[in-house]
Amino acid sequence: MTAPGLASEVAPGKAQVALIRCEDYDDAAVLQATTRGLDLLGGAGRFVRPGEHIILKPNLLASSTPEDLVSPHPSVFRATAMLLAAAGARLSWGDSPGFGRATGVARKAGLAAVADELGIAEADFTVARTVSFPDGHLMKQFTVAASVLDADGLVSVCKLKTHGLTRMTGAVKNTFGCVPGLLKGEFHVRMGTAERLAEAIVDLNRLLRPRLYAMDAIVAMQGNGPRGGDPRPMHALLFSDDPVALDAVACRMIALDPSLVPTITYGEEFGLGSASDVEILGDPVDSFTDPGFVVNRKPGSTTGPAKAVTGPLSRFFRNRLVPRPAIDHDLCTACGTCVAVCPVDPKAVEFASPAARAQKKPPVHDYDLCIRCYCCQELCPERAIDIEQPLLGRIIHR
Ligand code: SF4
Ligand code: SF4
Repeated sequence: MTAPGLASEVAPGKAQVALIRCEDYDDAAVLQATTRGLDLLGGAGRFVRPGEHIILKPNLLASSTPEDLVSPHPSVFRATAMLLAAAGARLSWGDSPGFGRATGVARKAGLAAVADELGIAEADFTVARTVSFPDGHLMKQFTVAASVLDADGLVSVCKLKTHGLTRMTGAVKNTFGCVPGLLKGEFHVRMGTAERLAEAIVDLNRLLRPRLYAMDAIVAMQGNGPRGGDPRPMHALLFSDDPVALDAVACRMIALDPSLVPTITYGEEFGLGSASDVEILGDPVDSFTDPGFVVNRKPGSTTGPAKAVTGPLSRFFRNRLVPRPAIDHDLCTACGTCVAVCPVDPKAVEFASPAARAQKKPPVHDYDLCIRCYCCQELCPERAIDIEQPLLGRIIHR
């Protein structure tokens, strides 16, 4: 996908991340900050060549407005698109949300309006193709959106948010959306733990090699992310061709040890990028660091050591040590999204009966079946699912 000499094939050296202060989502301010960021990295022409077909991949999780902070803000998408188009790229956009169709999700997020305004067509992420990847550390083949494989390059536009599985989601994880629809759920089941899923996503980044990653951290999401968290103004935009470095700098901003984020540790281990040898261009990271940012800083795996519950003993410990999704009955509207997205068979969250659903009683988790993928928490539209630590886990990790 990548033409010789462009950013993602430049010989490895010190990773560079442009960190730019931007106070709010004013279009002109965001464009100015984005221009400054890309100029510090060598200009938009370092990432695209005239006439190339580049797919912009925003982080579209599920239907939500710009104020919900689930997707990158339209102004960030607009500025990135404008600068790449000015460098001569032919742009389209696409993603495969965790729930819902990309067109509708992008419309509600305000991104489709920007695409319409700039004449950027939607790329089809529903048709997939399987390609071999002999260089994969964990994955030797991937099934991904064919449009991504057929494009000349990919540019990731992500958002700084918390995440139940990986603690934070940013540049590395955004690429997972190139895996179409339900296949993402299958990934969760096959991989089983946060660590194995992170390895697979790192391999996916190594296969697709996005040319540039742009992160919206002007107002980030803290707490119960990536959909149900709270706003935390960070006043920053980040840009890099190294997603590991970018996410590591974002971790410094939220006072999270990058070694606790599996997409960063495996990203460095597998040669996707560098978390430890990073040159920050632009504004000093210390001026953004926010120790009060609400994120999971407890050590230990978020999903437990076992790929699957294989026996009574491991089940016993898993259910007492590993964080688990829990439904707030006051907030649940019995919409059924969590049941629909739960990837295991039989479902690990289900309505007790059709009658219970009709009576709007919340579904019930079966923790023996649950693999702790947190897809239910990730996609609950009512912020009704939190991740709770069982008592024994709380004591051990105190
Ligand atoms: S927990 Fe959330 S996703 Fe599940 S039924 Fe209730 S409101 Fe819907
Ligand atoms: S109940 Fe939730 S966390 Fe457990 S397997 Fe299903 S979607 Fe994943």
